[in-house]
Amino acid sequence: ITDKINALPDGANYFSLEFFPPKTAMGFANLQTRLERMSQALRPLFVTVTWGAGGSTATKSLELAEICQRQLGLTTCLHLTCTNMNRALIDDALEQAKVLGIRNILALRGDAPRSDEYRDEGQLPEQDSNKDFTWAIDLVRYIRKQYGDYFCIGVAAYPEGHSDESHPEHQDPRFDLQHLVEKTKAGADFIMTQLFFDVEAYVRFEKLLREHDSGVFKTIPIIPGLMPIQSYKILLRTTKLSHANLPADTLARLDAVKTDDELVKQVGVKILDEIVEHLKARPDVVRRGFHFYTLNLEKAVSHIVEDTHLIPQTTVEDDEEVIVETTPAIN
Ligand code: FAD
Repeated sequence: ITDKINALPDGANYFSLEFFPPKTAMGFANLQTRLERMSQALRPLFVTVTWGAGGSTATKSLELAEICQRQLGLTTCLHLTCTNMNRALIDDALEQAKVLGIRNILALRGDAPRSDEYRDEGQLPEQDSNKDFTWAIDLVRYIRKQYGDYFCIGVAAYPEGHSDESHPEHQDPRFDLQHLVEKTKAGADFIMTQLFFDVEAYVRFEKLLREHDSGVFKTIPIIPGLMPIQSYKILLRTTKLSHANLPADTLARLDAVKTDDELVKQVGVKILDEIVEHLKARPDVVRRGFHFYTLNLEKAVSHIVEDTHLIPQTTVEDDEEVIVETTPAIN
């Protein structure tokens, strides 16, 4: 991923798309068709595949990553969590990723199963866990130790602070900062953020990182995470879960149309267009990236990347490459 970013000309913009593994074979088939369409029409720099907390989607995440990387030839980043997970699963996921030709891992801590899910049983189940991984930094260190520079490693960051059962009082990005410094020093190549709608909060966060005394954030790619608005209900749920602030004017625009799903989507696209344009206009980044949480949906994100001119132009070399690749098959 960082090789691809660095190969872009100064001033270029790029974007990536996140997908999660569907539960059923039918869901996989539908997503594969959609992915083929989206990758050809939108040309993202890379795609990412999520990982269920505790390894709950391990097989399916690897299956989707294989489709993306091998079958569709997309530069793929596999998310991987490390807590509440059997250690063998981490080794297996990294080994399989390597076999599939995947060179990018988003190294995450993941979350503990919520204790209220087990209230009825009267006790928490024995956790299928390991003592080696407590924070994401442990996974970053582990990957570097086991694989050297083979993987390009991304880590997560939270423009509006990370809320956690262990420290619910610290919903402030400054609280996480020293941990993010350490995680980056341990070997992160890029930073990808939690979703946000408060673009000023994001700008403040990026400034905080870029100007940090440690210097570790001076040039590292920081990719803002954006979630296209699919429905009023999903928006309220995701902002609550991720503790993302919905600025009053954004909420008012959506409130005004909340009974009409189609209008919510249209206004939602405009809101995201404005966030992208706002960040594109900032002069302080050499190559500006955007990461879209697609929820496996096509329409809204397609409109946004088209409206904001994020889709890369097809170059003559690309066309030539296609011809060279297809000629043997034609013969
Ligand atoms: P960490 O970097 O370990 O940080 C977690 C918290 O602990 C932070 O508040 C940090 O400041 C604090 N902390 C770190 N180190 C220490 C320390 N030594 N002492 C005290 N406090 C410390 N989850 C999934 O299950 N699957 C996914 O696919 C997934 N994808 C994600 C993609 C992105 C871009 C983002 C932003 C999040 C994603 N998540 C995913 C959610 C993530 O797993 C949770 O937010 C999790 O709670 C924190 O993960 P982390 O990697 O940021 O953890």
